[in-house]
Amino acid sequence: MKQRIIFLAMLCAWCLCISAQVKVVAHRGYWKTSGSAQNSLASLIKADSIGCFGSEFDVWLTADGKLVVDHDKTFKGMNMEENTLKEIRTIKLDNGETLPTLDEYLRCAQKQTTLRLVLEMKPLSTLYCEDEAVKKIVKALKKYKLLDRTDIISFSINACIQFKKALPDTKIYYLNGDLWPYRIKALGLAGIDYSMSDFQKHPEWIKEAHEQGLEVNVWTVDKEEDLRYFISQGVDYITTNEPELLQRLLE
Ligand code: MG
Repeated sequence: MKQRIIFLAMLCAWCLCISAQVKVVAHRGYWKTSGSAQNSLASLIKADSIGCFGSEFDVWLTADGKLVVDHDKTFKGMNMEENTLKEIRTIKLDNGETLPTLDEYLRCAQKQTTLRLVLEMKPLSTLYCEDEAVKKIVKALKKYKLLDRTDIISFSINACIQFKKALPDTKIYYLNGDLWPYRIKALGLAGIDYSMSDFQKHPEWIKEAHEQGLEVNVWTVDKEEDLRYFISQGVDYITTNEPELLQRLLE
């Protein structure tokens, strides 16, 4: 009986330990709530107000070399790479905000104190454009003194490598799910930020990444059973459109 109690106590402590490690990242901000929209300033403020660990958002370089925050390459009739900032700024988000520039987004983030920014740089049509975007993003993060609160993610391995060169102390994660953890380690990146389906194909990558000293983020996990599965697997971060549900499961 005594042994059984000790075993159960150890099991509870282990479960708590795993749960405590998982950090909640709001995907495109916290947008599934009134007055918000994906990648809006409101979604950033709302992710902070509900106590998320981090808030993810997407960045493009416009035809005239400006940085804007948006997910889809073509959105409301504008192409992020082929239209100018002035043209793109005619877009109204679903909550009535004008589509934000990265400058506006970072100025908004400066008002918060602990929320981590998870900045995704979108893959661009040429390596030259990507290198330009990397330089401009680095400059903006330095200007707003947000480097110590920002992690960077990208599907572009070129962008990841360029960021690593420019910002050796910043955590950079690769998104594309086609590189084994040891390859990510060799590139000096902080970890893997792969889709649920990548981890369904390669469940061993979570353990392998941790053995390499890498961190593991999984996207985009919204269903309760999937959230519970990845909590049980001991991932470091879960990126979700349902941050409040994940918070409840972690309580
Ligand atoms: Mg994204």
